[in-house]
Amino acid sequence: MSRIKVHDKEFELYIPQDQIERAISRLADEINRDMAGKNPLFLIVLNGAFMFAAELFKHVSIECEISFVKLSSYSGTASTSVVRELIGLDHSISGRNIVLVEDIIDTGLTMLFTKEKLRKLEANDVRIATLLFKPKAFQQDFHIDYIGMEIPNDFIVGYGLDYNEHARNLPDIYKIAT
Ligand code: 5GP
Repeated sequence: MSRIKVHDKEFELYIPQDQIERAISRLADEINRDMAGKNPLFLIVLNGAFMFAAELFKHVSIECEISFVKLSSYSGTASTSVVRELIGLDHSISGRNIVLVEDIIDTGLTMLFTKEKLRKLEANDVRIATLLFKPKAFQQDFHIDYIGMEIPNDFIVGYGLDYNEHARNLPDIYKIAT
């Protein structure tokens, strides 16, 4: 399906599943290489990163722990500057090597907040793995360690990403039609 409707908006096919999965496999190789022997704690940022994480951890072969957290700064199709609380953290963070697993980095505000929070909890190292990155929207100066794909500033859905809670289940990524 190359064109779909989600709520009131039309979307067109943008990144097919095989291309997404190739990017994720490459990203897992980088993580395996860098994080071996460090027993990282991967924190998957729900809801959007669930499909990315499921594919990523088929390829991450090093010894590690995986947990899930939740926070949200988004409603509708425009990023808001309000970052809410980080919930669901049930591991001790002190001294751990953390890898945050995120669906997409837009302005970077969400990850800035999360990184700060984990630093205050005395993490040894906080890295970021994101499936998608919008470099033109990014407003921070922290380093993003693992990037699946860079994309322009279009609003996208699918592969875990929603438009008002719909379209997360699509196996491909779609962008808003112009
Ligand atoms: P940031 O704080 O980096 O501006 O926004 C990050 C969050 O905004 C992501 O975790 C995601 O939930 C949401 N987001 C940013 N861009 C998009 C997009 O194009 N589509 C969807 N569905 N969500 C997005």
